[in-house]
Amino acid sequence: MASSNLVDAGIGGDVLLSHTSQLDDLINLARTNSLHYLLFGLACCGIELMQTGGPRADLDRFGAVFRASPRQSDFMIVAGTLTYKMAERCKLLYDQMAEPKYVISMGSCANCGGLFQASYSVCKGVDKVIPVDVYVPGCPPRPEALTEGFLRLQELVKRERWKDKTRRAAPSPSNVVRVA
Ligand code: SF4
Repeated sequence: MASSNLVDAGIGGDVLLSHTSQLDDLINLARTNSLHYLLFGLACCGIELMQTGGPRADLDRFGAVFRASPRQSDFMIVAGTLTYKMAERCKLLYDQMAEPKYVISMGSCANCGGLFQASYSVCKGVDKVIPVDVYVPGCPPRPEALTEGFLRLQELVKRERWKDKTRRAAPSPSNVVRVA
């Protein structure tokens, strides 16, 4: 019988939940400290994204390593202006990532279209195409802001529970990173 059915049936529910909670913590600890990311740099924000992975901001120190393949990535960083033409590719890459997967939207353009919001060819936010977990505002956000966004994502992963089926609900405003 699946463990969720055992809980539903009230068989050893407390014990089982306590064990699954500990297992969640253990798995989340490992996942939190080895989140690999897929770069999706589209415009000027992409330069700051590369800088964040460089030796000064050094995102690697948190266990976040860049991967060139969506199949080896846990999350995607969309940085820059997403045109409708690229939106299709963005969705394709997202679909190729294995679950559980996450998305950081970096910069005003990725968040809502930014400077180019009135353009006929620019998508008014990455979240129109794929679900976004963390929004990093700025034009462009500094590497420190993206690092802060990544730390928020780590917090989110740390809190996840195996029975949580609602994570893909509408993005919560509490995940919006604001760096002065
Ligand atoms: S948010 Fe600003 S820096 Fe980033 S891609 Fe748009 S115009 Fe460029």
